[in-house]
Amino acid sequence: EPQLSDEFQMLLAWADQERKLDVRANADNPEDAKKALEFGAAGIGLCRTEHMFMDATRVPIVQDMILAETYEEREDALKKLLPMQQEDFEGIFEAMQGNPVTIRLLDPPLHEFLPDKEELLVEVTKLQMSGSNPDELKEKEQLLRKVRQLHEFNPMLGHRGCRLGMIHPEIYMMQAKAIFYAIANVKEKGIDVKPEIMIPLVGHVNELKEMRELVMKAGLQVAEEIGQQYDYSIGTMIEIPRAALTADRIAQEADFFSFGTNDLTQTTFGYSRDDAEGKFLQSYIQNKVLPENPFATLDQEGVGKLVEIGVKLGRQTKPGLKMGVCGEHGGEKSSIQFCHDVGLDYVSCSPYRIPLARLAAAQASIKSEQKQSIHELQVQI
Ligand code: PEP
Ligand code: MG
Repeated sequence: EPQLSDEFQMLLAWADQERKLDVRANADNPEDAKKALEFGAAGIGLCRTEHMFMDATRVPIVQDMILAETYEEREDALKKLLPMQQEDFEGIFEAMQGNPVTIRLLDPPLHEFLPDKEELLVEVTKLQMSGSNPDELKEKEQLLRKVRQLHEFNPMLGHRGCRLGMIHPEIYMMQAKAIFYAIANVKEKGIDVKPEIMIPLVGHVNELKEMRELVMKAGLQVAEEIGQQYDYSIGTMIEIPRAALTADRIAQEADFFSFGTNDLTQTTFGYSRDDAEGKFLQSYIQNKVLPENPFATLDQEGVGKLVEIGVKLGRQTKPGLKMGVCGEHGGEKSSIQFCHDVGLDYVSCSPYRIPLARLAAAQASIKSEQKQSIHELQVQI
């Protein structure tokens, strides 16, 4: 268990006085949330909700939800998932002790919760040949049909992010209600909660508008049921070039922006984030086609330009609109410098990168102050 030495803590405390950027953590369980606080995070900038469904006891229920053929069947599965999801959020809210928590609604394509197609095919073939277990065969065949139905050639550009919420609003509804019930329970224990609900992969303002209405509807329903209302905000990821380019429109429906520079890098370069590094990217870097890996260090020339446009257009609509970065770049030194320069409010990174991010953020503001005073000196001369 790494501990920060007293000297290093002193250095960090000094860095905290210098930096303008807040440093938040990407965390999706109470343990990581606690770690994040220990390392000095100002909140959670990205709580991915998908990992919560990967638990062995939950996967069968998630699969029931995906396989459901009727509305009732799906509602039944969602009813079982709601208290589990609520417990997840309660744990995180408690651990964060009143610091802001940005919860992102479900993002990955649904096939990620189902077994692999090839493996399933082998199992079905074996069962067919043995003929010994017709019930299991039927079940597996049904699963295989669904896996085939959900197959996409480019799943990362496919039915994921808010596109899930648009087509299956009941999934986002369940998650939003779980958040609101969790707020109520945690507040009852005397712990403050500052939830920020985040919609992923928005490309068009109408997607955000519709999802915002859905979340607010959940909020009203829960408020009516428990007789109390809570403050929360609703924002969006900016991770599709179109979202950055239309950020003035999107800002009309958003209380905050979080730039998802992983997806934004993928979609700006047109490089698959799951394949590029293992395929041609290393050779590109070795041969100096690219100066560095854009998934590790923010590409300021292209991806960064879209971030700049997003910041400018967003604040044109809403001056002071809160903005941060929650892609991997949020914990990388030169990318943090860029985030500072472009005027973001925070970076969010994995808990273990927080100390480094605090230092890098301080360095960024010292550097820009130095530049500023050299400039002033030159003007005087
Ligand atoms: C991103 O795209 O930068 C992001 C933070 O989201 P994820 O990595 O979960 O797609
Ligand atoms: Mg993303």
